Amino acid sequence: MTSAVISPLGVDSPARGLECRGCGARFPLAAQHACYECFGPLEVWYDADALATVTRAQIEAGPKNIWRYAGLLPAGQRAADRVSLDPGFTPLVRADALAAEIGLRAPLWVKDDSANPTHSFKDRVVSVALTAAKALGFTRYACASTGNLANSVAAHAARAGVPSIVFIPWDLEPGKIITTAVYGGDLVAIEGSYDDVNRLCSELVETDEFEDTAFVNVNVRPFYAEGSKTLGYEVAEQLGWRIPAQVVIPMASGELLTKVDKAFEELVAAGLAVAPEGGWKVFGAQSLGCNPIATALHAGTDVITPVKPTGIAKSLNIGDPAAGLYALEAVRRTGGWMDYASDDEIRDGIRLLARTTGVFAETAGGVTTAVTAKLVASGKLDPTLETVVYNTGEGLKTLDAVAALVGPTYRVKPSLRAAREAGLLG
Ligand SMILES: *Cc1c(COP(=O)(O)O)cnc(C)c1O
Ligand SMILES: [Zn+2]
Repeated sequence: MTSAVISPLGVDSPARGLECRGCGARFPLAAQHACYECFGPLEVWYDADALATVTRAQIEAGPKNIWRYAGLLPAGQRAADRVSLDPGFTPLVRADALAAEIGLRAPLWVKDDSANPTHSFKDRVVSVALTAAKALGFTRYACASTGNLANSVAAHAARAGVPSIVFIPWDLEPGKIITTAVYGGDLVAIEGSYDDVNRLCSELVETDEFEDTAFVNVNVRPFYAEGSKTLGYEVAEQLGWRIPAQVVIPMASGELLTKVDKAFEELVAAGLAVAPEGGWKVFGAQSLGCNPIATALHAGTDVITPVKPTGIAKSLNIGDPAAGLYALEAVRRTGGWMDYASDDEIRDGIRLLARTTGVFAETAGGVTTAVTAKLVASGKLDPTLETVVYNTGEGLKTLDAVAALVGPTYRVKPSLRAAREAGLLG
């Protein structure tokens, strides 16, 4: 294909088409997520020459949000075309106390994506997906969500003044339901699991009545997935255009993990960042209540057996993970590993991260912190190599996880005498 082809995603888009992750078949840029040949998932493919023209200086001169990487994304090169809350450029927190506590001797960082507008990394994927969806002519926004995606789609639709319809499992945390409903779009609670919700959305998207609707993680999923790459770009830029030796990433569908790895590959290929000696290793984190990808890795198989998710890490509760195979591939190829944490370990992980870094994570962050500690203890994570742990969501949305475990350490009447009696003066 030549640069004379005008992309439906905008004249400046470096995206050239969709490519099957299974058989490599190529298709035009459109709202299509499965291969017509083999039903494999599709991924955006780019003009490598166009990506190679992007420079550090260009990026550094860009806005302090994901759109500084617009030259590496499928859509949104022009600000006026974006559907966005302008997420990204979240803090990379040096975590020395956490490192000391879990036995890491090299620099440890927490990429704190709870600082996004709706308090999870999902704002990145939604901004990219809906910007592509707008370019493709969709006039209603939707998703199948484990919670955070619902918040983000509803908020983006509200900002853009576009109707939305968001589908969730009925038993989500109040901190995910209220924070979606408040934006005023339709919110459909399904009496079933996330996997049931996702299946229903895959059927709805085929109907005439939903022809105008972009489901961010169904029919425009290839664009949604690309938004995750910005979590790789940002970490590399914040480290001075270096890729860390080890990263630990929570997995639901497994997409985020595969895209952070892809982002690192792109940065190296384009000459934008330097890989660590010996390459980088990607580690995946799941919960005991929903660990189909980690279980397949531990069993040494490519067969991911779907599970019925249980446990408190609801944002990660995808029992039949769409990108599971590709997450396995990335972890095996880079020499990383995966592990999982029980509900009690997740609660401890939330408190450990909060106590040592001042970052209050939702249950997914508890999963990642607990699994990082386990990976160090089991020798899978090298304690002498620089490591980045991804916190993808905000603790205020899952207060129940730790509500019974923390509270005031004293209760005292408002007098000096009472304070003395309570032991506050030593
Ligand atoms: C959705 C989500 C993830 C993982 O996303 P996948 O790309 O599906 O693996 C991780 N953390 C949080 C908080 C999420 O909401
Ligand atoms: Zn295919």
